[in-house]
Amino acid sequence: MTRRVFRYVPFTIEQDPTAEPEYEARCVSGDDAECGAESGTHSGPEPVEEWQRRHTQETGHRRCWRDFGDYAVLRPPPELAGCVRPVGGEP
Ligand SMILES: [Zn+2]
Repeated sequence: MTRRVFRYVPFTIEQDPTAEPEYEARCVSGDDAECGAESGTHSGPEPVEEWQRRHTQETGHRRCWRDFGDYAVLRPPPELAGCVRPVGGEP
């Protein structure tokens, strides 16, 4: 049996420029239960912040859960670009 030794490859991690990130907020204020009002999903933080300000003005609620998501792409360092073999190949 052979032991396989994997060398550490210092991949860089970048945001995928072909896919938009997602920002959203949900109001968690409220006395008995969370308000639960949602900003909807946006590709930038500004519309979400605008929604928060409007929601606070309308309701007095001041606390939100904020969610951010994006796609990350890992790139091998240039000197290894040709040698890093994917496990299992392309999907
Ligand atoms: Zn609310």
